[in-house]
Amino acid sequence: MHDENDLEAFLDELRGALGERSVKTGEDVSDDYSHDEALTAEWRRPVAVAFPTTTEQVSTIARLASLHGVPIVARGSGTGLSGGAVPVPGSLVVTFEEMNEIIEIDEANHVAVVQPGVTLAALDQALAEVGFVYPVFPGELGSSLGGNVATNAGGMRAVKYGVTRHQVLGLEFVLAGGDIMRSGGKYVKSSSGYDLVQLIIGSEGTLALVTEVTLRIYPRPGYSTTMLVPFASLASISNAVPELLGTGVTPLVLEYMDAVGLSAMSARVGFELGVGDAIKNAAKAYLFVILEANSPSTLDSETETFSELLLELGALDVFLLSEPSATKLLEAREGAFWVSKALGANDLVDVVVPRAEIPAYLERVNAIAADSESFISAAGHVGDGNIHFSIFQPDETKRYEVIREMLDFGLALGGSISAEHGIGSEKRKYLLELEDSDKLELMRRIKAAFDPQGILNPGKVI
Ligand SMILES: Cc1cc2nc3c(=O)[nH]c(=O)nc-3n(C[C@H](O)[C@H](O)[C@H](O)COP(=O)(O)OP(=O)(O)OC[C@H]3O[C@@H](n4cnc5c(N)ncnc54)[C@H](O)[C@@H]3O)c2cc1C
Repeated sequence: MHDENDLEAFLDELRGALGERSVKTGEDVSDDYSHDEALTAEWRRPVAVAFPTTTEQVSTIARLASLHGVPIVARGSGTGLSGGAVPVPGSLVVTFEEMNEIIEIDEANHVAVVQPGVTLAALDQALAEVGFVYPVFPGELGSSLGGNVATNAGGMRAVKYGVTRHQVLGLEFVLAGGDIMRSGGKYVKSSSGYDLVQLIIGSEGTLALVTEVTLRIYPRPGYSTTMLVPFASLASISNAVPELLGTGVTPLVLEYMDAVGLSAMSARVGFELGVGDAIKNAAKAYLFVILEANSPSTLDSETETFSELLLELGALDVFLLSEPSATKLLEAREGAFWVSKALGANDLVDVVVPRAEIPAYLERVNAIAADSESFISAAGHVGDGNIHFSIFQPDETKRYEVIREMLDFGLALGGSISAEHGIGSEKRKYLLELEDSDKLELMRRIKAAFDPQGILNPGKVI
């Protein structure tokens, strides 16, 4: 963007193309568009917010922004945790909230086709009505499918169903200059050149604007059991996980929560653990397990296998929860972020390591916390090696060192800096510092091929 007049010319052309109602500026722009849920990102107001309703409108926005050199920041529901949707200086926010139509539920092909602004909650409701489920389950059901694609969202069911990239079959997307493209479709196999779908998944709005998503869906299993399993030590949980997965029964959810974290999460939603004082006092950490099956007999037998094994592996007890308690526990776990935020966490880290390395990783994190006089609380998707840490360390320099050391050690164990929250603006400094520089250079060349002017979410990711 060169000057005020050029900005006005851009906005005039945009209003002309989309209509006055679809372009908001000044006081008409709510503060909601200045931020996402990252704890550390500074809020910033965009120059304008565009509300497209069609792919053609998104194409027009990209074409005009490119002509005028205006940066574009895509936005789904703004629930991201890494600053990805936070406006960059002088940017136009393109919010997909009005592109919220479920285009098709194709029961024969087990596929749903959605616009990017459809929320997980809306999709789940529509699929439940026809006996299907989309299995990726990040804790925040208000998030949009476009945002999920752009961050490669994961969540609690990744242990069974993988993450967003394992469930997206096709995309329609708009490039920086306005070209509309489609890649993939209603099929699982394709060996036809580079896979653009997979490249765009997880690119956090830096390569293209996603305007339609084709997703795999599954028949909705009818039966489930929820278990709450206290352990006297974290090490015994870490050791139990490979044994549980070695049974051949893959749980839908296999989460770990430390005792302090679980009690805070439970208090927030008014969930009474009901485990008795003796166990509560002895428990240092809990496993939260959900098994699901298509028949009661399969579920019973899998529940028995898991319960017996858990006790052999040192569980203090195994509590099978009633449906209302199971719902409350899930709600409690989903709210982990809000608890950390309310308690004053200074940052979040969502590192992933090979799951067998979790004990070694947690031991090191405890040492880092002790050495730096930080408090670090952990909860996470232990079944897939992804632990979420809340970092309580108000001193910015010390905190940077703590996080850097944690991420560096995660990489040394064969892990990755962010499992699912993305890099955005807030984890970029760590990526640039710790990731292989040749790989970063290749990523920059890919970025330049998609977006030569650098107008799509500049300054994010790389
Ligand atoms: C309480 C809570 C719990 C959470 N739990 C989890 C969890 O368990 N697992 C997990 O993975 N995440 C979790 N998250 C993070 C968040 O929900 C996910 O990152 C989600 O995918 C963001 O979706 P959104 O629609 O809010 O995207 P936004 O925050 O709006 O945007 C995220 C990124 O996607 C880009 N983007 C959005 N739409 C498009 C589009 N159409 N085209 C191109 N780029 C686009 C944005 O530019 C930005 O970079 C949690 C968040 C909260 C608040």
